[in-house]
Amino acid sequence: MLEVQGLQVSYGAVKAVRGIHFHLKAGELLCLLGANGAGKSSTLKAIAGVQKASNGSLWLDGQDLSGARPEQIARAGIAVVPETRDVFPDMSVLENLQLGAWLHRRDTAGNKVRLEELYARFPPLAQRRHQAAGTLSGGEQQMLSIARALMSRPRLLLLDEPSLGLAPAISQQIFALIAQLKSQGLGILLIEQNVQQALQIADRALVMRLGQIVLQGTAAEVAQQNLSAQYLGEQ
Ligand code: ATP
Repeated sequence: MLEVQGLQVSYGAVKAVRGIHFHLKAGELLCLLGANGAGKSSTLKAIAGVQKASNGSLWLDGQDLSGARPEQIARAGIAVVPETRDVFPDMSVLENLQLGAWLHRRDTAGNKVRLEELYARFPPLAQRRHQAAGTLSGGEQQMLSIARALMSRPRLLLLDEPSLGLAPAISQQIFALIAQLKSQGLGILLIEQNVQQALQIADRALVMRLGQIVLQGTAAEVAQQNLSAQYLGEQ
């Protein structure tokens, strides 16, 4: 489904991603692990088109998206939930969700159905639909950010540290939700610091270090490695 070849991302002299190759099959949950600064977010941003790659190619279902703008990438079926969550705090939950439907804004009937599906899946959002997003808890804002991305009806969801800053019980809920989305056939690229939980729901995992992939395998294979000592410590 997604094919990344020779991806490089640089910030001036800093080479954040140094020519990585990987793929993600339809409906697969691929987890991207690595210490702070390993290049995970830069990889995700380059796939989303918000950070220009200095080299490499990107394909989604045979469509060449190399160098494409974020709108083109969204139209191709890739949605992003950034680390910052990016909900609009002064807008209501409903308005935030409606923004997520910009790709299909003429399909009002379809968007209504989608909205009801998402309200059923995220009851706290349904209860707070007219509340300003800024008044939601951290976990609810993360749900909103994910739900807004789903309003664009993606085939592939990119999630950058969705459990960041959440209490353990809430982050459990977010992981359960991600596992559910996967079981419904959505492809997911997940960046996580919460390695054990991420590996429990992932199909495969890649470990990055200093801009390169240093380990990859099924989630079970990667879970057997002594990750914290070798790859996830301070660099
Ligand atoms: P984290 O978990 O801290 O987000 P990461 O694995 O996602 O880490 P990146 O954020 O991709 O890593 O950062 C990779 C490298 O690129 C780091 O050395 C970082 O300092 C650098 N970097 C990231 N963003 C920028 C930027 N906008 N300008 C300059 N350097 C950057």
